[in-house]
Amino acid sequence: MKTVTLRPGKERSLVKRHPWVFESSVARGGGDAGETVRVAAADGQFLAWAAFSPQSQIRLRAWSFDEGERIDAAFFQRRIAQALAMRARLPIASDAVRLIHGEADGLPGLIVDRYVDTLVAQFTSAGVERWKAVIADALLAATGLTRLYERSDAQAREWEGLPVQTGWLRGEGPTALTIREHDWQLTLDVAEGHKTGYYLDQRDSRRRFADAVKQYGVRSVLNCFSYTGGFSVAALAGGASEVISVDSSGPALARATAHVALNGFDAGRHQAWDADVNATLRRCLAEGRRFDAIVLDPPKFAPAAAHAERAARAYKDINRLAFMLLADGGLLYTFSCSGGIAPDLFHKIVAGAGLDAGVDGYIVERLSAAADHPQTVRFPEGDYLKGLGILKR
Ligand code: SAH
Repeated sequence: MKTVTLRPGKERSLVKRHPWVFESSVARGGGDAGETVRVAAADGQFLAWAAFSPQSQIRLRAWSFDEGERIDAAFFQRRIAQALAMRARLPIASDAVRLIHGEADGLPGLIVDRYVDTLVAQFTSAGVERWKAVIADALLAATGLTRLYERSDAQAREWEGLPVQTGWLRGEGPTALTIREHDWQLTLDVAEGHKTGYYLDQRDSRRRFADAVKQYGVRSVLNCFSYTGGFSVAALAGGASEVISVDSSGPALARATAHVALNGFDAGRHQAWDADVNATLRRCLAEGRRFDAIVLDPPKFAPAAAHAERAARAYKDINRLAFMLLADGGLLYTFSCSGGIAPDLFHKIVAGAGLDAGVDGYIVERLSAAADHPQTVRFPEGDYLKGLGILKR
C-alpha cells in the first residue's frame, strides 16, 4: 500500500474527520488516479485511507479514518446501505430521491438520484471513477433496480482530469421519465436534463412556496431561472392567477409549459419567457410592472470561494431589481446554490440589495436543500443551497 505523507501541521482537517486534503498539504508520496493510499501525518502516524487524485487541487479524499477498515467492495456496499437506510427514514414527498450525496454519505464524488425505477449517477472524483463497476453493482443490489444511467458530465470531472462519460452503465430503457413531486407530475429526461435531470434539492422549497402563495394570497408570480417550471407549478397549485417562467433554455421552458397542462392548470395562467433574467428584470422595471411574488433561483455563480466576490455582486444585482419589482406586501423567494457563498454572507448580500432598493422585509422562511441532500456536522461545505423567503414591508 502506498503512503502519502502530509506536511507538519497539515493533518488538522483529517484529525477533525473532514475528508479533503489539498495539494499544498502533501509533503511526499502519491499514487495512480483513484488509488487507495494510506495518509500519514508528518510523524508517520496513520490519519486515513483516501483516494488519490493526481490532477485535482483536492489531492486526497478520505474513505475511512479507521485504520482497520479495508477499502473493498464490502466497504462500498456498507456505505451505500447506510445512505439508503437514512433515506428510508425520511418523509420524502416524491418518487424521485437523492440516494447518495457525496461527502455527506461518506462517498466523496458520488451522486446518485433515483427517478422512480431508474438510477442516475455522477462520478466526479478519481476515487469513485476507479471503483465505478463495484459501485454500480452495489447500487443495483441494494435497490433491487436494474437500470443505471451515468451522467458524468459535471464540471468537477474536468478538475479531476476525467473525460465526460454518459450513457447506460447497467440495463437500458427510456430516458424520458415522469416523476411525482408532492401532488404534481413532472417530466424529465435523464440523458438531456441539467445535472441528473431535475433539481431535486428544491423539492421542499417548492412546497413552501406553494403554501406561501396560498397563505399570502399571491396572484402574479415571476419565476426567474425557472428551468422546467417546478416553482411555476407550485405557484399555480397555490392559486396564483398569472405566472411567468423566465429561463434562457428553450427546451426547459417547453417542458415548463407542458407541465402546466400535465397538472391540469389553465394554459392562460402561465407564460414562458425565453430570456436573460437580468435583462428581463430591467425591462419589467422600465415598464413599471409589479409582481406579488418573485422567485430567484440562479445557477451557481460561485462554484468555489475564490469566485465569491464577483458572484456576490451578481446576486446583489438581481436581488436589488427583484426587491424593486415587488408589489407592496409582496413575497421574494431568493436562493443561492453556490458552495462558495456561506449562508451568513448570502444574508448580507440580500440585505445590501434591499438597502439599495430602499426596501425592508420580514424573513418568513429560511430554506435549504431537502433532507435527502444531507448536510453533516463535519462537512460544512455541504451547506451549498440556502434561501430566504422575504415578505416586503
Ligand atoms: N428553479 C429551477 C432550477 C433553476 S437552475 C427548479 O426549481 O427546477 C438555473 C436555471 O437558470 C437553469 O435552467 C438555466 O437554464 C437558467 N439560467 C442560467 N443563466 C440564466 C440567465 N442569465 N437568464 C435566464 N436563465 C438563466
